[in-house]
Amino acid sequence: MPRILNRLRPEIEEILTKAVETQEVDREAAYRLIQVEASAVPALMLAASQIRDQHKGNTITYSRKVFIPLTNLCRDICGYCTFVRQPGDPQAHTMTPEEVLAVAKAGRRAGCKEALFSLGDKPEAKYPEYRSWLATRGYGTTLKYLRDVCQLVYEETGLLPHANPGIMAREDIAALRDVNASMGLMLENISDRLLRPGGAHYRCPDKVPKLRLSTMEYAGQLKVAFTTGILIGIGETLEERVDSLFAIKELHQQYGHIQEVIIQNFRAKADIPMRAHPEPTLLDMLRTIAVARLILGGMNIQAPPNLTPDAYQMYLFAGINDWGGISPLTRDYINPERPWPKLVELKKVTEEAGFELRERLALYPEYVVANNGFISPALAERILSLTDSHGLVRREEERW
Ligand code: SF4
Repeated sequence: MPRILNRLRPEIEEILTKAVETQEVDREAAYRLIQVEASAVPALMLAASQIRDQHKGNTITYSRKVFIPLTNLCRDICGYCTFVRQPGDPQAHTMTPEEVLAVAKAGRRAGCKEALFSLGDKPEAKYPEYRSWLATRGYGTTLKYLRDVCQLVYEETGLLPHANPGIMAREDIAALRDVNASMGLMLENISDRLLRPGGAHYRCPDKVPKLRLSTMEYAGQLKVAFTTGILIGIGETLEERVDSLFAIKELHQQYGHIQEVIIQNFRAKADIPMRAHPEPTLLDMLRTIAVARLILGGMNIQAPPNLTPDAYQMYLFAGINDWGGISPLTRDYINPERPWPKLVELKKVTEEAGFELRERLALYPEYVVANNGFISPALAERILSLTDSHGLVRREEERW
């Protein structure tokens, strides 16, 4: 380590030096790193940045997307969720195909390439009125309805769907695969403790970590490029944070399908059960991003800029290489009080830090370039026509 960091404890210096050399940290070392004192965080960030640079050069990516909140009904009641609504709430809504298409067409006009479908998990299992809504349209499940609207959006607008519908069985993923460039499910955290009374996932049948890992595993078996991640500050221990990252890494080592790992910070909001729960500090976020980079090596790491609006540039120095989906059009329905940074601002912030911002598709560049079974044949022509030899969106297709 450079002399400027000479306050670093030898033990931490040794772990970081070895991590940069071997591109690896083991679990015990990661437990130590996630607990380092504040004065050691810059050294973590420096080591993480070196690893990011070795794998990604100076390119930072984002996906230009529209957000389609297909339904905000859900059978779960996560303590941090501001998206979910109960039937009867004036803001409860399930989008019709016409409404979905109107948003997608506006997105296409705004130069978007991705349609991100976000929705509650299995509301039909809880709400009879929603079951009737689906039945009158000929559907027994939300996932079957989702498949058809993904297809509709792709056929009518060319936007590439990325579905994020919660827990899925193998056959659900197989059915959605044709009409999705990639799919996603946050692991959130691997801790079963969060399911206990008072925990963030109490009475949330779809937040059982084992089930979420199974969904991620099915996606790997079916060669679906998959986005996942952790939500920090929801009552997990620091060790559980590390364990969650290792669980993600192990799945990727087996199937090579985890295209993106999101490190998301919990934000308290007035209308959620966890409104009084403390938020992770910026330092905590930077430490976690850096440790994630040290654990995950060359995998893609994203942190949402809109959840730390005044300081997100720092994420670049902690080792991220992607800003996630950014919408020039629709608001962030999951965190509606936090508008996304304007793209020109994001570009400026990224360039100020010494990087180049490039647009990617909902399918990460390495999967496009490798073309090794992760591209749905139905979407292949569009995906390949939009991208250059690096798998990034061709410059003439980019819009700022
Ligand atoms: S599963 Fe998702 S949509 Fe449902 S309550 Fe939890 S965070 Fe909200």
